[in-house]
Amino acid sequence: MGKVAINIATGSLQTEDIIVGIDLGTTNSLVAMVRKDSMQPIALRETDGLTLVPSIVHFDEYGGTTVGTPAREKLLQEPERTIYSVKRLMGKSYKDVKDHAGVFAYNIIDDDTDALVKIQVGQKFYTPIELSSYILKELKKRAEHILKANISKAVITVPAYFNDAQRQATRDAGRLAGLDVLRIINEPTAASLAYGIGAKHHEEKTIAVYDLGGGTFDVSILNITNGIFEVLSTNGDTYLGGDDLDNAIVQYWKTEAGLGESADKMKVQALRVLAEEAKKHLSDNEVFDGSVNGVAVSLTRAQFNEVITPLVDRTITACANALRDAGITKDKIDAVVMVGGSTRVPLVKQRVKEFFGREVHDELNPDEVVALGAAVQADILAGNNTEMLLLDVTPLSLGIETMGGLMDVLIPRNSKIPNKAGRQYTTQKDGQSGMRISVFQGERDLVKDNRKLAEFNLTGIPGMPAGLPKVEVNFLIDADGILKVSATELRSGVAQTVEVKPQYGLTDEQVEQMLLDSLTHAKEDIGTRALVEATTEAQQMLDTTERFIEKYRADLTEEEAATTRAHMQLLRDAITAKDKDKIQQETESLNEVSRPYAERVMEGALKDAMKGKKVI
Ligand code: AMP
Repeated sequence: MGKVAINIATGSLQTEDIIVGIDLGTTNSLVAMVRKDSMQPIALRETDGLTLVPSIVHFDEYGGTTVGTPAREKLLQEPERTIYSVKRLMGKSYKDVKDHAGVFAYNIIDDDTDALVKIQVGQKFYTPIELSSYILKELKKRAEHILKANISKAVITVPAYFNDAQRQATRDAGRLAGLDVLRIINEPTAASLAYGIGAKHHEEKTIAVYDLGGGTFDVSILNITNGIFEVLSTNGDTYLGGDDLDNAIVQYWKTEAGLGESADKMKVQALRVLAEEAKKHLSDNEVFDGSVNGVAVSLTRAQFNEVITPLVDRTITACANALRDAGITKDKIDAVVMVGGSTRVPLVKQRVKEFFGREVHDELNPDEVVALGAAVQADILAGNNTEMLLLDVTPLSLGIETMGGLMDVLIPRNSKIPNKAGRQYTTQKDGQSGMRISVFQGERDLVKDNRKLAEFNLTGIPGMPAGLPKVEVNFLIDADGILKVSATELRSGVAQTVEVKPQYGLTDEQVEQMLLDSLTHAKEDIGTRALVEATTEAQQMLDTTERFIEKYRADLTEEEAATTRAHMQLLRDAITAKDKDKIQQETESLNEVSRPYAERVMEGALKDAMKGKKVI
């Protein structure tokens, strides 16, 4: 079906859609596309030559946003209004991230539940999906400006280890940014596509993709057979990257230059910026000289190599572990692809070459390679490239919980996608009318060690003896690796299908509702929390007082007892009225009223208790 569209912005006639490839990175993001004339992927460049957009969103006090380099400049001045590394929070609950909450300078709401994390900026709350959508919107806007065309379709990349929730969150972010996300693909798959490795028919290759970015490191071993990309293993450290190299330099300078721990926060930040400059400089030079706050600092390539060796060692150990998990030896690797800005560091390149015992692919810009690969995929989807095949696989096994908390795998890891699988289950009790279906992802035998994706109840099973109902559970993974689960009781004849409400993934309505909620209910959210806290405290005060007057009624005067009861009633009324200020005020009054006699009674009780006893 052909459509002709006129781009209102440019007045030009568009006869076909441009599908772009987007690398939505932890540190930087960028857009690429395949050129019609040369059929080569290129990263879209601004007039200043830059392709990278820092994945940073800054909010001004009125809620206005800026994205990219201008936002990065606010990191030092307004850390609590400047959101970075949002990719780390995608599809995560507070429980998932609390161990690392310290690395974020902004406020992540600590409600310690399974709900998705929210980030508080001023009086407003934002989800990682919304924050990522701001970055995607900016990329879309820039791409439209550069190409002078409307962009509405994209392929977005995610790490190979991203689970269903994280993929879903990325897709939702795309949709919020006004993009039709045609496919979510794995970053290592994209990197290998950019180099055109293994994507031809009848070709078999095993490759290693070494990706050292700004804040994360991962290595993936892929097998590509007849266009099927299979992730054999992934390994790495989600908290190891270029930033750690910068920190290693800062530590070195702090001890060497005698700046000491007392340097205030701003100074350390300034030192960090200079450290990154030094690191980049040393990728092409032997010596760096600079100064911070009037103090001269310098660094040689040899000193740099020494301070970062422990970090590089860790990445090499991860490579060895990835090979072990994939069950292959180094000599089976046909190619090594370098991804991420930090692979420009000469020591990194050297050590990876030494480890794999071969040259590495670093011909393409390591910052751009993932986006370029996404563009190649986009081109295939647009039907422009029939040379290449493209299939992906599930990174982790998918299954449901069965008796005793066991994981029953329906789709094993590394299954080709799209895919579907079904299995029959039955009831444990006579007359059981409902069955809880809990969906998990992971490789462990017990579901408690895996990750819960969704849970729902199949209800209305007609009364039957245990073991008779036949409940068929079906898993369907679409081309993006997104899972839909349904359950049907076959014997009753009434085909009952249940849509899974993923705990992390979101429906269209939920995404829209979330956006509205975050804008309209921001103050309420804070208010609700304060009311809950005040009520809990008041309730405790009431319980304690109640118990006290019951126990020591004989020690209280009539008047004391009556006044206390009157104040307790006032507090109860305030709780009923849900009036936070009044609750706090009445809690305080009750405290005031009861304090004098409580002290008197307790003193008496203490004296009694001590009578006849020795004080040690
Ligand atoms: P990425 O997340 O892939 O965009 O990687 C960004 C990281 O690459 C940051 O830590 C940068 O400091 C680092 N980087 C960029 N250019 C260079 C360079 N020339 N030498 C060393 N590291 C670099």
